[in-house]
Amino acid sequence: MQQPQWPDPAVVANVREILASRSGLVPEAECEILAARLDRAARGEALVLQAGDCAERFTEAAPEPIAARLNQLTSLAALLHRGSGLPVVPVGRIAGQYAKPRSSAWERLPDGTVLPAYRGDLVNRPEANRVARTPDPNRMLTGYDCAAVVLRQLRRRAVPDVEWPDPAGAVGQMSAPVFTSHEALLRDYETALERPGRAGRYASSGHLLWIGDRTRAPHGWHVRWAAELSNPVGVKIGPSITAAEAVRLSRVLNPQGRPGKVSFIVRLGSQRIRRILPEVVLAVRRHGVPVVWLCDPMHGNTYRLRTGGKTRPVEAIHDEVTAFVRILAAHRLHPAGLHLEVTPEDVTECVAAPADTPVSPARVAQPRYTSACDPRLNRKQANELVAHFAGLTRR
Ligand code: PEP
Ligand code: MN
Repeated sequence: MQQPQWPDPAVVANVREILASRSGLVPEAECEILAARLDRAARGEALVLQAGDCAERFTEAAPEPIAARLNQLTSLAALLHRGSGLPVVPVGRIAGQYAKPRSSAWERLPDGTVLPAYRGDLVNRPEANRVARTPDPNRMLTGYDCAAVVLRQLRRRAVPDVEWPDPAGAVGQMSAPVFTSHEALLRDYETALERPGRAGRYASSGHLLWIGDRTRAPHGWHVRWAAELSNPVGVKIGPSITAAEAVRLSRVLNPQGRPGKVSFIVRLGSQRIRRILPEVVLAVRRHGVPVVWLCDPMHGNTYRLRTGGKTRPVEAIHDEVTAFVRILAAHRLHPAGLHLEVTPEDVTECVAAPADTPVSPARVAQPRYTSACDPRLNRKQANELVAHFAGLTRR
């Protein structure tokens, strides 16, 4: 379930009570606008650009880092729009991307010390000492405050919506901010921010919430919870997926078949996507409820370096995007967009390691690795990848 071991349940209860008394971070009506746009993407009339940090930091809920991230997201969306000729829905991994699933609950340091893993700023801090790594429930309050700070700044920049005239008119004049998204991982935080909706309830912590590859069991808490929400939800599709399980997820997450409700965020890796995705796509098309097909070319192409750090070869990332578009097109489905980890900073986290050179990721230096978690594309790498995808989707 990827939940932290909070040291004191009484503190958690108190934090949850405070969160429940706060106003929701986003209104339900904006989540509905996003669902309507995702439905357009599902039908092949639009593209989605979901991008941002792997792990947002509380210290970056500040004017300059937010402005830089907003600029990157909107300029990538504009690039995709120009290159593809389709309207683009920008969705940030922003204003709440503070909780991280980990493949191990523990981290062993080079000197042999074993510490609890960093689980995102919502839980603990990345510094390698016991105090920093001890889960602190009060960080959920700070997370709420930081998300509110980021959202306020996103709203100030919200531009009138010309790209998306709404035929129904009802919500058309509401210029939504850049839409926000994060992984819905932490049960205590997410359920305390549930709010009553028009029919049932919705998650007020962000517009779109996704379920990670490690927590997507069809009968697990995360899936059952997300199915009840009126928000659009995403689910990561990693290499352990079976065609039957994908069909089941599309149904369980969307029992009423609501348009735009479910996005499948495919992250199989540049090799495995060719073997696994065709079967999954075929089964979901035949037996499932329609979904928005997004490509996350980052998480299936991650390698450990000898130094213990992680990287991702840019070549493999491009290759997975190419394979994704071809497979969807071969099944007469719309490759509806990208899900990326990017930063406007000049980092060297993902590496250029073309398959036809002897440069293996194990030998590449990363002088500027500042991500608290996974390797992100820098500005130039992100632009090149989005241009590549735009070229593939151009009609
Ligand atoms: C992520 O998006 O940062 C992540 C952990 O992804 P996944 O669940 O696909 O591994
Ligand atoms: Mn990540």
